[in-house]
Amino acid sequence: MSAKKKEENTKIKKNKNTAKTPVIDDTKKIVKKSGSKTNKYDLLRGMHDILPADEKYWKSIYNTTTSLAEHFLYGRIETPVVELSNLFIRSVGKGTDIVDKEMYLFEDNDGKKVCLRPEATASIARAYINHGLWNKPQPIKLWYWGPMFRHDRPQAGRYRQFFHAGFENLGAIDPSVDAEMILLAYNILFKNGIETIVHVNSIGTPEERERYRADLVTYLRSKRSYLCDDCKTRINKNTLRVLDCKQEQCQPVIEEAPQILDWLGEISKKHFMTVLEYLDELGVPYMLKPNLVRGLDYYNGLVFEFYGQVGEEGAQSALGGGGRYDYLIESMGGQPTPAIGFSLGVERVVNAMKKKEESGEKIIKEKLPDVYFAHLGVDARRVLLRIINEFYGSGIKISFNFFKESLKSQLESANKHKVPYVLILGQKEVQDGTVIVRDMESGEQEIIDQKKIVKFLAKKVEMINKVD
Ligand code: AMP
Repeated sequence: MSAKKKEENTKIKKNKNTAKTPVIDDTKKIVKKSGSKTNKYDLLRGMHDILPADEKYWKSIYNTTTSLAEHFLYGRIETPVVELSNLFIRSVGKGTDIVDKEMYLFEDNDGKKVCLRPEATASIARAYINHGLWNKPQPIKLWYWGPMFRHDRPQAGRYRQFFHAGFENLGAIDPSVDAEMILLAYNILFKNGIETIVHVNSIGTPEERERYRADLVTYLRSKRSYLCDDCKTRINKNTLRVLDCKQEQCQPVIEEAPQILDWLGEISKKHFMTVLEYLDELGVPYMLKPNLVRGLDYYNGLVFEFYGQVGEEGAQSALGGGGRYDYLIESMGGQPTPAIGFSLGVERVVNAMKKKEESGEKIIKEKLPDVYFAHLGVDARRVLLRIINEFYGSGIKISFNFFKESLKSQLESANKHKVPYVLILGQKEVQDGTVIVRDMESGEQEIIDQKKIVKFLAKKVEMINKVD
């Protein structure tokens, strides 16, 4: 193609682009679309958006989770959001609320019965078998972060889509692993400003539990008339869950119920007591909760749940929970593999952090911008976007607003946020290839070559940070 033709082509393309680009009227700041009066597309019940205002909390929890995972040598696993529904029906178990009432079930286009995952442990056990992870040196240490789905009755802190941050340790049975799990969850919460107390219990081996269950059934039948309707059906269907009931009327019956700890054999007892010794050593506050059973079928041995401050221990306030599931992988067709895991409800952790901040406690220290980029005129804006891009990766935190037009209001904005330096770009600086750097404390100004500006400000910012 000749040079002339090429030029013409570019012109045509440019014209096409111009025609398609939404017009931004310089004098009117941003062209806004007219908003509709009613929103035809409301959120589904129990679903929620996560907006930038909450980003600092999510980021902080995520960063703690990843850095702890790295420190304690856990590798990330991602499993699909959609799985065969049988995976959860068989592992979490019929008779549990998750399976009986809360599954997002549907048939996919091939007629397969699938569901949106209500939790990730069963998927991870499946992945452990599918990928032959049992062939690798044990234990396999994994962590995950992602959305879970439960079609529950929405209420405060209870959503139909919510995030779990979780850890799983597969292939080792030792009290140190149990303690490590509790420590990880405790650390994530503690490092994000939430003081917690972990509720612990042991639900023993399946045989120990079965013997206990038989006695519990006898006891509960004798108290049947005092129980709520749900618990009446739970007596036969999911006996241990009666102990977990939050209904006022069931509490006296639960308090008097036989306790599973009395049914544990020597090995289970020793394991549990040793975990507690580890927690003493680690300084993790715990509380023995003989009625804590967790609602899922696959658990055995140690079970635990994290709660906020005393007084916030309602049904919705568990920040996370977990336990051993030494029989799950074998029951799914794998080798006998001891395992343990936990998950934290990220939304609930975020809510707990916000609550603390509302009460005046500063949990997250946000870094303020080092430099505010001010500009005057359309040409300056074009050059400024290039300069902003050049600052990417410099470690300097910047702030700017293309839609504040007067220099005065831009400087006011910088002042309001106590930004130490302002970079000013007007028509003259665009022509000269320079920028003005204003020290906001002293009011001194320097003219700097645009090509040297990143290095120049990096030195200034480094000096401020050293003094801080
Ligand atoms: P679970 O294994 O069911 O105890 O879930 C672990 C944690 O996830 C809980 O302690 C809660 O913090 C959180 N969680 C469970 N269900 C929900 C839900 N429906 N909405 C929000 N968070 C939840």
